[in-house]
Amino acid sequence: MAGQLAPHITAMANHINWDEYFMFLAILVSLRSKDPNTKVGAVLVKNNKVLGTGYNGFPSGCDESRFSWSRDTTAGWLDTKYPYVIHAEANALLNTVAAVAGGEIYVTQHPCNECAKLLIQGGVRRITFLDNKHLGTESYAASQKLFAVTGVEIRHLAREHLRFDAVQAAFGEYAKLPEA
Ligand SMILES: [Zn+2]
Repeated sequence: MAGQLAPHITAMANHINWDEYFMFLAILVSLRSKDPNTKVGAVLVKNNKVLGTGYNGFPSGCDESRFSWSRDTTAGWLDTKYPYVIHAEANALLNTVAAVAGGEIYVTQHPCNECAKLLIQGGVRRITFLDNKHLGTESYAASQKLFAVTGVEIRHLAREHLRFDAVQAAFGEYAKLPEA
């Protein structure tokens, strides 16, 4: 019933562009994270094909009941999430199905310096991010230095370039569509 699809596709000016496609996908991936404070999603891309996705979480096999999502280090670092959580970018690299070298990544947060190192070493040549909670931190400064020295492109995708309204409308339409 192609006619049923017309309203929301028209609302999106027919189709989403590549930036929207991969960043909206990164946002969707982030929703898998169980972190109550910071949900990050990452999508590794090469030649406009998805190679892997990742979100922040504990390693496979970790019984979640034995770990905490706490960020409060006053009670001790070992009782926070920090020693144990794998960041979204690292998980995307580990989850990839093909060689990453020469590819790029879309990520909902500016990479920390630890992930910056991994992405550079993996051969990622362009990073597109949405938010930047690290801005002004030493981690951010270290990431910037790493990208500058290695010639890796770091690109901020501003929210006004993402048609959230159209996608919300499209999902709303799908939610209402009768099942085929
Ligand atoms: Zn990181």
